[in-house]
Amino acid sequence: MSSSLSNAAPTVTPLRNSRPLLSVVIPLYNESGSLDALHTRLQAVIAQLPVSGHEIVFVDDGSRDTTYAEASALCAVDPALRAIRFARNFGKEAAMAAGLRAARGDIVVLMDGDLQHPPELIPEMVARWQQGAKMVTAVRRSRDTDPWLRRQLSRGFYGLFKRVSEVALAEGGGDFRLFDRAVVDAINSLPERTRFMKGITSWVGFRQEEIDFEPAERAAGASAWSLLRLLRYAIDGLSAFSTLPLRVWSLMGIMISAISVLYGGFLVVRTAIFGIDVPGYASIIVSVLFLSGIQLISLGVLGEYVGRIFTEVKGRPLYLVAERLGFDEDKK
Ligand code: UDP
Ligand code: MG
Repeated sequence: MSSSLSNAAPTVTPLRNSRPLLSVVIPLYNESGSLDALHTRLQAVIAQLPVSGHEIVFVDDGSRDTTYAEASALCAVDPALRAIRFARNFGKEAAMAAGLRAARGDIVVLMDGDLQHPPELIPEMVARWQQGAKMVTAVRRSRDTDPWLRRQLSRGFYGLFKRVSEVALAEGGGDFRLFDRAVVDAINSLPERTRFMKGITSWVGFRQEEIDFEPAERAAGASAWSLLRLLRYAIDGLSAFSTLPLRVWSLMGIMISAISVLYGGFLVVRTAIFGIDVPGYASIIVSVLFLSGIQLISLGVLGEYVGRIFTEVKGRPLYLVAERLGFDEDKK
């Protein structure tokens, strides 16, 4: 398989490890009812892959339903399965971080547990990896499965992000990705606690490629992402990868000071020529309200960043593990 591949494309980089060990990392939060189907489909796909072995790492992000029981039942029948259970819900970012740390494979596939990410895409990802890509991102072609408001908001977010941040995000690039071991090690070495995987994966660089896919409907359950939660996620992401919201206020301050110097000069000249003229309530109240509004906004933005510094400085772990299955050696 691998030799025919390199024959077909003589320009590709030589295959370093043509039969790698594959890890599939799946964060789970209240996903009971889709695990069996997911496992069956994954097994069918993996059996066709040119890999020397595989493992599937379930990270149960403090589910309140029977997800962990289902995962451990599967672990009992399939030795390739491993499971981590968090002490509570720490969020998908923490679950992905835990999974990436636990994964031992030469290549690691990260995917959702609700079957919106079709496992049948993995062979194409692995093929790209064999041709030299260090990261393969599955980009959703349409967001038809999302509600309208959410589509608009997410488009706005990507547009804003592109303008203000130091890294570019692939629009529609979700968390369905294949990583080379080098990239996983790089991601694992990042110490930050406020995780924003979409930004981190773009920040680490390496050779990245994209493939298109059409997300399926959720297999069971409901999306755990409310609009408010998405908004918080967006703010986390922006502040983790951009300091523009901080700098914008210095610019604003300079502009407002310049304008007030001009206006002050105008007032002095006018008073000198026409004498003191008392009315002016409207202009005073408007400028007082406007300026105090701006000051509050800029304080709020400062607060966002100070809050983040606070979280990082506290140095709490990203997540706490309550239980592990299939980890014989003493591994994090
Ligand atoms: N998830 C998680 N922790 C959370 C929320 C979600 O591990 O706090 C997992 C969830 O089980 C799923 C993936 O993240 O495997 C994507 O979640 P969801 O389907 O709710 O998001 P959407 O597809 O709507 O973006
Ligand atoms: Mg989903």
